[in-house]
Amino acid sequence: MVSEQDIQHLRRCIELAAEALALGDEPFGSVLVAADGEVLFEDHNHVASGDQTRHPEFEIARWAAANMTSEARAAATVYTSGEHCPMCAAAHGWVGLGRIVYASSSEQLASWLSELGVPAPPVRTLPIRDIVPTIEVDGPVPSLAEQVHDLHRRLHSKTM
Ligand SMILES: [Zn+2]
Repeated sequence: MVSEQDIQHLRRCIELAAEALALGDEPFGSVLVAADGEVLFEDHNHVASGDQTRHPEFEIARWAAANMTSEARAAATVYTSGEHCPMCAAAHGWVGLGRIVYASSSEQLASWLSELGVPAPPVRTLPIRDIVPTIEVDGPVPSLAEQVHDLHRRLHSKTM
């Protein structure tokens, strides 16, 4: 169940993804929100540096491990423009973070990339629940997923 509050946080993720695109990076953005609704940390992709592991969800997991108690992590929510990849889902699971809400799914991303003629990534796009089976997951949100789709179209029309 996605609330109006969830939608607000997802909108911020999409803004971050658009910022990444404007900086020449891939359009993915994520936000970590505490149980009381406070935004603790936000980031976007930094893979243009050449390090393909610099995903925002991975940075969130490491930030949470360094700065939060295990209780606070379990009660926090991670919002993200695109569903976690297997690496980030595993990091999320290992540090014991809570619920995930995404605007667009990995399945959607895979179909968009194939539609755009982009070669498949080296890591398979799997649902978060295939990696972290007990996590509470919500998404995609169709109206927001369309905005994420548009960012990916812009990324790949620039490079083709
Ligand atoms: Zn990732």
